[in-house]
Amino acid sequence: MHELAITKNVVDVVCEHAAGRRVCSVRVEVGALTAVVAESMQFCFELVTEGTVADGARLDIDHRAGGAHCRECGGDFVLTDLVLLCPCGSADVEVTSGRELRILSMEVS
Ligand SMILES: [Zn+2]
Repeated sequence: MHELAITKNVVDVVCEHAAGRRVCSVRVEVGALTAVVAESMQFCFELVTEGTVADGARLDIDHRAGGAHCRECGGDFVLTDLVLLCPCGSADVEVTSGRELRILSMEVS
């Protein structure tokens, strides 16, 4: 369950930035290719925030679809999962988006 490690990182950074203030909400951007399951991340968030300044904070997850460019046919297409195949059948593709995993914003009180 890699969501736990990822979420732990996010919470560590958030708590550091909060510098002792109470965290109300956190918004993260998660690309389709990170294979992070939103429900798992929500669950892990509740676990790892326990006892921290982010305890009880809301986690908002912004999903980003992945995108790729095919070197074979030159087309751009949307990636919805980890299958890196162009509709033309080529596997010679370059991932242009979908690997994002970052904190977009956080609210402190
Ligand atoms: Zn192609």
